[in-house]
Amino acid sequence: RSWRVDLKSLIRTIPDFPKPGIQFRDITTLLIDGRGFAAAVDALVEMARPHGADLIAGIEARGFIFSAPVARALGAGLLPVRKPGKLPGPRIGVDYALEYGTDRLEIHEGACLPGHRVLLVDDLIATGGTALATVSLLRQAGAEVPAALFVIDLPELGGAALLKQAGVEAASLMSFE
Ligand code: IMP
Repeated sequence: RSWRVDLKSLIRTIPDFPKPGIQFRDITTLLIDGRGFAAAVDALVEMARPHGADLIAGIEARGFIFSAPVARALGAGLLPVRKPGKLPGPRIGVDYALEYGTDRLEIHEGACLPGHRVLLVDDLIATGGTALATVSLLRQAGAEVPAALFVIDLPELGGAALLKQAGVEAASLMSFE
C-alpha cells in the first residue's frame, strides 16, 4: 500500500489542554481517517522491521493503538506496559518523576526475558520521561531495547536526545516545534 497522506495535517492541536499553556497534539483526528491511520501504522512497521524485534512494547493507553498493529504486521509479540493496578499476575515496575509527583509503569514478570529484542512504540515523546522509564524497566528484565518509535516528537522538550544518550535509537513520523 502506498497512500500518499500528509500525516501531520491529520493531527489536531488543542490549546490549553489538559492545562493552560499546553498545546495538546490530538491523534484522534488521524485515527478516524482510514488512510491516515493505515499510512501511520505502515510507516512505523517499516521503521521497526530492520530491528528484528521479538516484542513490541506499547505504553498505556495511546501507545496500545499503534503498537498492536505494528506487532501484528511484523509477527512479533505485543507487550503491554501498564499503569498500576491493571496487571493480574506477578509484576515488576518502575517509578518515575512527573512534573508534579510520580507515576509507575509495570509489566508481568517473565513477559520479556534476557536477550529479547524489544522495540518501544508510543504516540508521542515530549520530555522522554515515560519512554526512559520504560526502557529502564525492560532493561531491568534483561531485554535489549535498540529503538523507540513515536508518531509525534516534540524535539524542543529533548526526549529523543535523552533516549539517544541512553543508547536507544529514537525515530518519529513527524515533529512539532
Ligand atoms: P513525556 O514522558 O514527557 O515524554 O510525555 C510523553 C507521554 O505523555 C506520552 O505517553 C504521551 O501519550 C503523553 N503526552 C504528552 N503530551 C502529549 C500531547 O500533546 N498529545 C498526546 N499525548 C501527550
